[in-house]
Amino acid sequence: MTPGVLEQVPATKAGSTKTETQYVFFFGDGKADGNGKMKDVLGGKGAGLAEMTNAGLPVPPGFTIQTEACREYMRGGVSPKVDIEMLDALHNLEKLQGQKLGAGENPLLVSVRSGAKFSMPGMMDTILNLGLNDKAVEALAKRSGNPRFAYDSYRRLIQMFGDVVLDVPKKKFEHIFDGVKAKKKIKFDYDLQPDALKEIIAEYKKLVKKDTGKDFPQDPLDQLTAARDAVFSSWQNARAKTYRRINNIDDSIGTAVNVQAMVFGNLGENSGTGVGFTRNPATGEHMFFGEYLMNAQGEDVVSGVRTPLSISELEKAMPNGKRTGLAAVRVAIDMVREGLITQDEAIHRVEPNQLYDFLVPRLVEKGEKIEVLATGLPASPGAAVGQIVFTAEEAVKQHQNGAYKSIVLVRGETTPEDIAGMEVADGILTSRGGMTSHAAVVTRGMGKCCVAGAGDCVVDEARKELRVKGKTFRQGDYISLDGTTGRVIAGKLKTLEAQPDDPDLIKFMSWVDPLRKLKIRANADIPRDAKQAMLFGAEGIGLCRTEHMFFAEDRIEHMRTMILANTEKDRRAALKKLLPMQRADFVGLFKAMGSLPVTIRTIDPPLHEFLPKREDLLVQIQHLVDTKPRSPKLKELRTLLARVEELHEQNPMLGLRGCRLGIKFPEITEMQVRAIIEAAVAVKLKGGDPHPEIMIPLVGSIEEMRNQSAIVRSVAEEIFKEKGAKVDYMVGTMIELPRAALTADQIAEEAEFFSFGTNDLTQTTYGISRDDINSFLPAYLKAGIFKQDPFATLDQAGVGQLVKGAVAKGRNTRANLKVGICGEHGGDPESVKFCHRIGLNYVSCSPFRLLTARLAAAQAALEDKLGDGVHTNK
Ligand code: PEP
Ligand code: MG
Repeated sequence: MTPGVLEQVPATKAGSTKTETQYVFFFGDGKADGNGKMKDVLGGKGAGLAEMTNAGLPVPPGFTIQTEACREYMRGGVSPKVDIEMLDALHNLEKLQGQKLGAGENPLLVSVRSGAKFSMPGMMDTILNLGLNDKAVEALAKRSGNPRFAYDSYRRLIQMFGDVVLDVPKKKFEHIFDGVKAKKKIKFDYDLQPDALKEIIAEYKKLVKKDTGKDFPQDPLDQLTAARDAVFSSWQNARAKTYRRINNIDDSIGTAVNVQAMVFGNLGENSGTGVGFTRNPATGEHMFFGEYLMNAQGEDVVSGVRTPLSISELEKAMPNGKRTGLAAVRVAIDMVREGLITQDEAIHRVEPNQLYDFLVPRLVEKGEKIEVLATGLPASPGAAVGQIVFTAEEAVKQHQNGAYKSIVLVRGETTPEDIAGMEVADGILTSRGGMTSHAAVVTRGMGKCCVAGAGDCVVDEARKELRVKGKTFRQGDYISLDGTTGRVIAGKLKTLEAQPDDPDLIKFMSWVDPLRKLKIRANADIPRDAKQAMLFGAEGIGLCRTEHMFFAEDRIEHMRTMILANTEKDRRAALKKLLPMQRADFVGLFKAMGSLPVTIRTIDPPLHEFLPKREDLLVQIQHLVDTKPRSPKLKELRTLLARVEELHEQNPMLGLRGCRLGIKFPEITEMQVRAIIEAAVAVKLKGGDPHPEIMIPLVGSIEEMRNQSAIVRSVAEEIFKEKGAKVDYMVGTMIELPRAALTADQIAEEAEFFSFGTNDLTQTTYGISRDDINSFLPAYLKAGIFKQDPFATLDQAGVGQLVKGAVAKGRNTRANLKVGICGEHGGDPESVKFCHRIGLNYVSCSPFRLLTARLAAAQAALEDKLGDGVHTNK
């Protein structure tokens, strides 16, 4: 039995008397009057819309007219209060959208849908595109720049409204429609051009006049009232009654009416419509199930004019069209709270890469004068503050020459050709396009802020101007975007880095962290990054690339002098200058990390990276020869050129780098170890508890390891004697050459820990240059030779076997060998899961991927617990 009307409790406004019924419930801007439990009052759809709005999902705003109004309608007419509240809600909606129903340059259109407590699919009526009239359709055509879309929407409204509200037989509309299609020799509805659609509209209007004796109503409010009442009366239509009888649904409970701002499925090939289910409705199988059509509106899926595609196709066609990470976490938490899923299930439901959304910046608004210029769609969350450019090329140019520190790319809409510009921009603003527009989809994938479809912005690409609210912005002017709310704000606001302290996130991560077995560390080179990493939950530093410290302006000179030195004495003199600088950096790192381990790698990259380019030197020399042939600088440059040429390598990645540098020039290793150990001792003497782990790169043999670890240990002992104090430290190596992996049992005799440098290990195992793969990667992906970029996701079958074998060999020699990974793969969910399965102790990744790695590690542990069946992303 289903509950009857006697059990209906009309909702009342908070604080009001019981008899004062609230008829209309608003939802939008992240808040709803109702909630998911109010199905009796709001119907299933209305309750769901309220719940999803409260959960922070991107629900188009609107309002629900509750079931009590329907019951009143059935009893003879709705009370005047329904009209008053409906008007009120409409005004709220208009205010929120910055539009007026069916009026102005940017008319608001709404959908009017039925929604009873129990789903009665297709039994009652729906009207889309409501608000359009002869004037509004022209505004919509102009505004959207897409007349086909505007006239198509209008003809749909007349057809639906004519059928549902005015009782004009559907067949008569179809007859006209098919007639024009045949005349124009057109197969698919979406191929009808504006002129043909205009012809259809004229014929439809004639039909309405002939059949009803009245013109199609041009007043949007009349349309809305009539549509609402028609939905109420559709509760009583024959098919609805039959459905209720068959399904044992009480006839007297009535339906609610949902009025919602239109979202258009027929805007073009990037728009669509569809239905989704959390289970396969036919088999009950636990899977996301659904069907969709591109460039269509809802009734096209139902009517069968075109065959819908399975939702799994959509994933292939638009791989980035996903909900945000914030929504995913919020929904998962709510579902656990409502007892729908367990915590473990919730953990599986969030895609690790999506957690990145929590780490994107926000605008600092407190105490600032905020001038909102326009509001567009919140297409990709986060904030961006930067200087305006109008083309992708300009974005790339300003980025490359370093003129603009941060860039906002402003476009009418973006296309795939803009990708390079989007990549370097901090944020994207478009005046056209929806939530599935190119700009929206691509930026979401990049985790980059985007406001799309900000219709009030006039983007004049030819004149390089953005005109909005009577103001003109030109290239180089500052603008601020809030991709979370869709606001476009004048001027240069500050941004707040991230929101790792979001209460929902903290709660979610509190479920995640106890599950995982892997420790999660960060790759961080400077104290600032280390602090950031701590904020995102790092449990140590897995890789500090010390050479990055040498690129700083005040150091590169000494570094160059050191490299150019011809004698050990000169080299030591230069190293002496670098020592205090490095020591200060390490003090900062140890302080930031407290008693957590800090892995510091001795210098790795080829020396030429620190020297001027040969070509640049040649140009400078030639210039001096031409202008000041007697300049003493000329001699200096020639010496430099000679040394650069001497150091030139055909294959620098396989050349003088890694431990080879420290072996050829032991004084470099000596200086670095001195800086590390002196810093650690200093921090310890001040009450700290530093745990340095000194890591030797690019080792291929036990002999290399022995050579370097001997230096490390003797310098450390020397300092302990000098200072009369000791610190715990370890010496280990990176495993990033196949030979190191194959001889890991020997290397483990000297190395107290291994860290897999899977960037180089992938490079050397595949024999593919990590810097040059892009020239053929697309071809490989297209041909199916690679399923993924092996530098992004670990090649488990090949490189992974080397890693697995090396772990086993290493632990065979040294049972308590600590093993981690610090290549890029350390932040890739699939690779993290692999690391868990082969028993690594930790993964290390860039600070911004820490949440992702933490979740992936927990999912991997859960998969263990549940057995093989639930490996999700194999
Ligand atoms: C690696 O090779 O995986 C690594 C972490 O070192 P780098 O990227 O600095 O070569
Ligand atoms: Mg490496």
